[in-house]
Amino acid sequence: MEKRGTITKVAGPLVVASGMENVQVYDVVRVSHKKLIGEVIELRGDLASIQVYEETAGIGPGEPVYFTNEPLSAELGPGLISSIFDGIQRPLTSIYDAYGAHIPLGIDIAKLDRKKKWLFEPSAKVDSEVSSGMILGFVNETKVVKHYILVPPKVKGTLIWLHKGEATVSETIAKIKTNRGEIKEINMIQYWPVRKKRPYISKLAPDKIMVTGQRVIDSLFPLSIGGIAAIPGPFGSGKTVVQHQLAKWADADIIVYVGCGERGNEMTDVLMEFPHLKDPRTGESLMQRTVLIANTSNMPVAAREASIYTGITIAEYYRDMGYKVAIMADSTSRWAEALREMSSRLEEMPGEEGYPAYLSSRLAEFYERAGYVSCLGDEKRLGAVTAIGAVSPPGGDTSEPVSQATLRIVKVFWGLSATLAYRRHFPAIDWLKSYSLYEDVIHEDITTNYHQDWNVLIRRLQILLQEEATLLEIVRLVGVDSLSKEDRIKLLSAQMIREDFLHQNAYHEIDTYTSIDKQYLMIQVILKWYDLANVAIRQNKDLRAIEMMKVNERIGRLKYVKEKEAQNEVKNIMLLMESEFQALKEE
Ligand code: ADP
Repeated sequence: MEKRGTITKVAGPLVVASGMENVQVYDVVRVSHKKLIGEVIELRGDLASIQVYEETAGIGPGEPVYFTNEPLSAELGPGLISSIFDGIQRPLTSIYDAYGAHIPLGIDIAKLDRKKKWLFEPSAKVDSEVSSGMILGFVNETKVVKHYILVPPKVKGTLIWLHKGEATVSETIAKIKTNRGEIKEINMIQYWPVRKKRPYISKLAPDKIMVTGQRVIDSLFPLSIGGIAAIPGPFGSGKTVVQHQLAKWADADIIVYVGCGERGNEMTDVLMEFPHLKDPRTGESLMQRTVLIANTSNMPVAAREASIYTGITIAEYYRDMGYKVAIMADSTSRWAEALREMSSRLEEMPGEEGYPAYLSSRLAEFYERAGYVSCLGDEKRLGAVTAIGAVSPPGGDTSEPVSQATLRIVKVFWGLSATLAYRRHFPAIDWLKSYSLYEDVIHEDITTNYHQDWNVLIRRLQILLQEEATLLEIVRLVGVDSLSKEDRIKLLSAQMIREDFLHQNAYHEIDTYTSIDKQYLMIQVILKWYDLANVAIRQNKDLRAIEMMKVNERIGRLKYVKEKEAQNEVKNIMLLMESEFQALKEE
């Protein structure tokens, strides 16, 4: 670090330095004698604006700025899973072990553990031609994750040597002779600039459902593998529970959770809770396939800005191995506030509510890195990054700029409702406000691969729920007696949909997850009930008698019936239902 500039101004996390003509935007620099980590975010002549990721108190004009001539990069390799990093990928657990709760300024600590030995199993053939993205071998990163070691970007040639056995991440495990005759020594670390997307062969249209086992999501507002969704969460509306449920149950191999500047104690909750979450598929801790990135609001604002890029870079890296990765960013509102703060310090022209004009494009850049791709190195290897961003609009009002910008980008919106949460209807996803633009392609996927009439049934659910809203409005104005009997049956059926199907208890051993097959059965039962009730009411049968039927309770308990007993129970329910309606008819 010989070359250096000179600090001319310090304004919180923003430092301006002169003599910087030889650096580039997004280069990392070390600021002041303390060597604080910073990133160049703007260049004007020889003046650079530097976003500093550590506390800048006590540094001042005249102090040096050292160049590294490298962009802000993630270090990728075995050891990422089950780690907790901050926004610029400093390993919080190792730092805590070495220094205690307070991170010393300007420390140089390796992001990935350099001492740990991994058992490398080679799989590529020596003497074969290899290029970027091809698999050289793997290590068992955790009990549940096989970490494939890929030929790094921009490397191509003949594989002349491949290691077998133990190695640390920085030891050579392969040698590749390039076409120019150069020998490249490859270890298990890859560096990648976080603000640039990692390459792939091609992006595929997301057309498969990411089954979550959460009924309101899979049936009404499904997310595709490689899709993008937003979930706004007024406090106490169940945002955390939804995210935990997705982390546990969604059809994803790897979870990257970016806790972005939530209040310190909320982030602590996540840090404390995640390691205790059990992975239902393996019985192990969920951390065995999770990477956590944690920035609390008491960490410098700039690190928060970087954290979502660090997170998505890690997500892309596992995608490249052919995994389905889900990244959750919580919350993008706090991230946007960091952007706003830096923008105002840069004295840029403020846009709506002080957010910079590039808020939307930055958000889009993040979400666009999600997707379902054919991976570099092997077009048959398919990987996906599915992105779920939490938004926390002040006062729950989604007309503010961050929510609006997010809504323009994402394809799925799960609107959490404080009213539903207050009524203890969980998950409190408002079926009247939420939407999924993947609905059509996913219905095609399900009708082809699961159940032929899925789309027809779902459409009927949606209509009933919408009609209920209208009817309830009428009831509110003129009372329930003004409704026809048909409408009363609609209300009863919609209530069944809400209470017996949409409502789902995350803490109930069986109810916590429902397969598509069982969801289908549950919907079938409710709609059958609706049809039979309609016939009965047209024959002038008593509404009370329909309301009091024994089968209603059985339908209500169906969600607590084990997956493998569901089919049988549904058969019995159908029989009981038919006999009860038959009896009514004969009365
Ligand atoms: P937020 O993160 O939005 O502040 P939480 O996710 O912590 O809210 O949820 C608040 C409370 O609501 C939880 O402690 C829990 O009691 C209840 N809750 C939320 N979702 C569910 C659910 N799916 N099943 C059962 N209870 C839930």
